[in-house]
Amino acid sequence: MKGYEHLAQWVSISDSPADRENHSSDISGHSPHKPDIIAYPESTAQIARLLTWANTEKIPVTPWGAGTSAEGNPIPVRGGICLSLERMHRILKLSIEDRLAVVQPGVKYRELNRQLAGTGWFFAVAVGGDATIGGMIANNAAGPKAVKYGATKAHVLGLEVVLADGRVIRTGGRSAKQSCGYNLTQLFVGSEGTLGVITEAIVRLTPEPTFEEALVAQFPSVAHALHCASTLSGLDAGAIEFLDRAYMGFLGEEPADTLFCEFHSIGDGAEAERRCWAAGAIAVRRATEAVERARLWAARLRAYTASAEANPGARLLTTDTAVPVGKLQEMVSFLQRELSRRNLTGYLLGHAGDGNVHVILPWLNEAQRQAVNGFSLAAVEKSLSLGGTASGEHGVGIGKRHYLKGEHGANAVGLMKEIKSLLDPARILNPGKLLPD
Ligand SMILES: Cc1cc2nc3c(=O)[nH]c(=O)nc-3n(C[C@H](O)[C@H](O)[C@H](O)COP(=O)(O)OP(=O)(O)OC[C@H]3O[C@@H](n4cnc5c(N)ncnc54)[C@H](O)[C@@H]3O)c2cc1C
Repeated sequence: MKGYEHLAQWVSISDSPADRENHSSDISGHSPHKPDIIAYPESTAQIARLLTWANTEKIPVTPWGAGTSAEGNPIPVRGGICLSLERMHRILKLSIEDRLAVVQPGVKYRELNRQLAGTGWFFAVAVGGDATIGGMIANNAAGPKAVKYGATKAHVLGLEVVLADGRVIRTGGRSAKQSCGYNLTQLFVGSEGTLGVITEAIVRLTPEPTFEEALVAQFPSVAHALHCASTLSGLDAGAIEFLDRAYMGFLGEEPADTLFCEFHSIGDGAEAERRCWAAGAIAVRRATEAVERARLWAARLRAYTASAEANPGARLLTTDTAVPVGKLQEMVSFLQRELSRRNLTGYLLGHAGDGNVHVILPWLNEAQRQAVNGFSLAAVEKSLSLGGTASGEHGVGIGKRHYLKGEHGANAVGLMKEIKSLLDPARILNPGKLLPD
């Protein structure tokens, strides 16, 4: 607590061992690092005051939503202050008339949707983790529904942000259409807490589908499954997800390459089933009733956490490449060849509808760490060669910083560094993330 005591006069802080431990890691395999203290502000004014002080003293400040990131994004690698947004969890306004909600950053997206239940409207981004809206904006999270509704960036109309020096700015606004000046809102979307702290967000609401049908189809090979996925995207699909046979087997399911889909128009499920059989499916099941839909999707929903539970003691590296959808099959074949050539265990989980594939690779020791890192580099190089990206939805965090130049080029990365220097010249905000050193 040394040096931080005076903060306690106006903001709640903690340096308890349990609190520091709980704010030292996310779900990635990156090494944990404890902050010196955790601050729990309850207002924008408190955050502005804290940042003004930290900026003068050059103390690192790392924002923290729910800590469910997959790339080390909220790990306070340089110590200092972990700025938890958990007490800023109020929904400030729900306006069905204006089709928007105004929320504090610590609101969990599931809670927002609970409050909206029965209105016919919802916040249309869903990730597997119990994430905050601030963290989802900061990572530009996506998830299974992105194939229909897009990533978080498509759902943010405006922000209130505290800059590193304590200045408070407002970006965007409540209008559905905006064409007035530089789009500062989108500068902060995906900035992973490195440019400012989001203290309020205006997010779009989307009409809920009036009909939902789940479809799960098994195929004799990845090529069959992904070819089929490419034929489904013209339908009103709310999700097109993929698990490979290794993942299914390891989840205790029938070991077949499997598509998990959701359709929102009556008749599209039947049409999708017809296309699955035409693409060589060996089994197809469909359901419209909620409990049965959840049962069909159960394997997909527990996939990520199951891979951690099944490898006790191991750390996990998760790749996050995304390629143009037409190149997905080539990308996945490459990943499978590389896994076998390098003799690595890896489970494939894909948001097939938008070309985003994760390979989850457990590792236990330094030799294995190097091996999975080598695989990750090969995956990124292949993705870039196909016109894709190193990160479709998890962000750059710690692990993907060295891929930035390859993806964007030296000039664009140089401009990113200039933006960082302009907004955070003392480099206090989430240091050691996103940009290469
Ligand atoms: C089981 C599981 C499944 C997942 N599935 C998906 C998926 O399908 N798609 C997907 O995209 N992600 C997925 N994730 C990853 C994760 O849920 C998302 O990245 C999410 O956006 C993180 O939100 P969070 O609230 O936990 O933020 P944190 O992890 O706490 O923080 C995320 C980043 O945002 C910064 N930050 C947090 N709050 C603020 C703020 N108010 N202002 C500025 N910066 C801030 C942090 O410093 C950090 O850099 C999954 C995670 C789990 C555990």
